[in-house]
Amino acid sequence: MTDYQTIAQWLAESTTAVAFTGAGISTESGVPDFRSPGGVWSKSQPVYYDEFLRSPEARQEYWRQKAIAHHEFVAAQPNVAHQTLARWETRGLLRGVITQNIDGLHQLAGSRSILELHGTARQIACLDCGARQPADPMVAQYEETGQVPTCPECGSGLMKHATISFGQQLSEAVLQESTEWAQQCPLMFALGSSLVVHPAAGLPQLAKHAGARLVIINRDPTPLDDLADVVINAPLGETLTRIDELTEY
Ligand code: ZN
Repeated sequence: MTDYQTIAQWLAESTTAVAFTGAGISTESGVPDFRSPGGVWSKSQPVYYDEFLRSPEARQEYWRQKAIAHHEFVAAQPNVAHQTLARWETRGLLRGVITQNIDGLHQLAGSRSILELHGTARQIACLDCGARQPADPMVAQYEETGQVPTCPECGSGLMKHATISFGQQLSEAVLQESTEWAQQCPLMFALGSSLVVHPAAGLPQLAKHAGARLVIINRDPTPLDDLADVVINAPLGETLTRIDELTEY
């Protein structure tokens, strides 16, 4: 059997496989990897969370950068890799997606069971009362006025994208649920992630140590390749399509 056939068979036998996704799944939708050359943070210093809290100038700089980043992903559409994962969930093969991405493309593709480790850039949240707003109109308002917005609900809270900033802790609840998924799944796909950012990259390790099969599909080699049952270095869209075609439903 080829690797593709093997993976397809493992997938068909599973009902609670988990996909862990990183920036590589969205670069095929034209969303730049923010760490890569040309991404917003190759040109600007990121604003750390404590600076955001403490300094109006830092908040101004944060909003300037996030408005640029917003336009980099807001027009992007899910690609065939996102769509394939959504279909596997619908067909009862996949428990869900754990993603490092903040672009919301899994939701747009139709996935429902999604754990967003780094939050979502599609929403803005109040740091005081927790009220959430869609990002689009609030970014537009910022661009028109140049003013960092305050919370329309409580009237005074600082508004920040509902993403995990540099220097900010991941959500304990999301991390806990991700850990459970990793420990319980029979099969984990690590897709389009360089698997170097911790603690997120620890999830495939956790799955493997708990007895799961680990399939890594990424453009480049990763530090966890030796741990994996199968490694494929190829574009995600075409690879998942091939696996899907070989899967018996
Ligand atoms: Zn508020």
